[in-house]
Amino acid sequence: MDIKSARFGVTPNGEEIEIFTLAKGNGMEVGIINYGGIITSISVPDRSGGLSDVVLGHETLDGYLNHSRYFGAVVGRYANRIARGRFKLNTVEYQLAINNGKNHLHGGFKGFDKVVWKATQVDGGVQLNYLSEDGEENYPGRLEATVTYRLTDANELRIDYRATSDHETIINLTNHSYFNLNGGGTILNHELQIEADAFTPVDETLIPTGEIRNVRDTPMDFTSPTAIGRRICDDYEQLRNAGGYDHNFILRGQVAALRTAARVYERASGRVMEVRTTQPGMQFYSGNFLDGSIIGKGGRAYDKHSACCFETQHFPDSPNQPNFPSTVLKPGEEYSQATIYKFSVE
Ligand code: BGC
Repeated sequence: MDIKSARFGVTPNGEEIEIFTLAKGNGMEVGIINYGGIITSISVPDRSGGLSDVVLGHETLDGYLNHSRYFGAVVGRYANRIARGRFKLNTVEYQLAINNGKNHLHGGFKGFDKVVWKATQVDGGVQLNYLSEDGEENYPGRLEATVTYRLTDANELRIDYRATSDHETIINLTNHSYFNLNGGGTILNHELQIEADAFTPVDETLIPTGEIRNVRDTPMDFTSPTAIGRRICDDYEQLRNAGGYDHNFILRGQVAALRTAARVYERASGRVMEVRTTQPGMQFYSGNFLDGSIIGKGGRAYDKHSACCFETQHFPDSPNQPNFPSTVLKPGEEYSQATIYKFSVE
């Protein structure tokens, strides 16, 4: 494994941003910048060894500064939505930024996707550190967060998340990479299997209703490999609410154990991506809000359904949903999660 670093750009505040390239002899290569902890590229071989970049992104820092759709970024302090940006811890009520309709999304106006992380090379990868001050974006507690990206010999990009806080707080970190295993075109032909028998239905503002619904006999059933586009236009209230898939799936198996969450296969290239995680849930987002207005790498317009996200996470709005697994982090405890994106061909 070879790690190179180079200058990527300078923020408007004069902070130098570096790009780290993790490369393996066999061709797999991953680009990471310390702005937003963003994965800028993941190049992987297809069936005949041809390399393609399988994630959306920009060629320049300006691209990331000017258009935030969270391409490749670390999302925090709380990934996904919190209803009306409100939650209570003990008896104290907190009001977070309202930046998505009536709700709070992805950490607020300046979440972890828009901050500069301190980067250090470590064995097999790069470690990013960020100190989020008490009250930042109105979240309580001084939070020390570490995200480590590593490339393993098995063509896995492994992400480890750790955090501690000096005050009781809430936390939900994820990565927001947008994947297209063919390196272009639509993802509607990608075949997807999700290790989930249930999901958390949402209202029209994409806040969970609290219900836990079995996927059986619904277009949310990905328990066996199914093309993403096969039922995406079905007349099903949940698909209408989100304009496609934008839902939290409740992953099978023991939470905290690293287990398979999803498997994606793209027939033309032969590329396979397996997602493994310690997290209880995964947001499967089919790129519904992409509309061609963002021009990304190679001058490509990112159209609706041109990529999809597999955001391993705790469930959206957990702080207001007593029946969801807790996202509270107490002083003295350590938040620790891992997710692996493993690439192969078939
Ligand atoms: C959310 C989508 C949102 C997207 C980009 C996903 O995690 O679930 O609703 O549009 O992120 O912001």
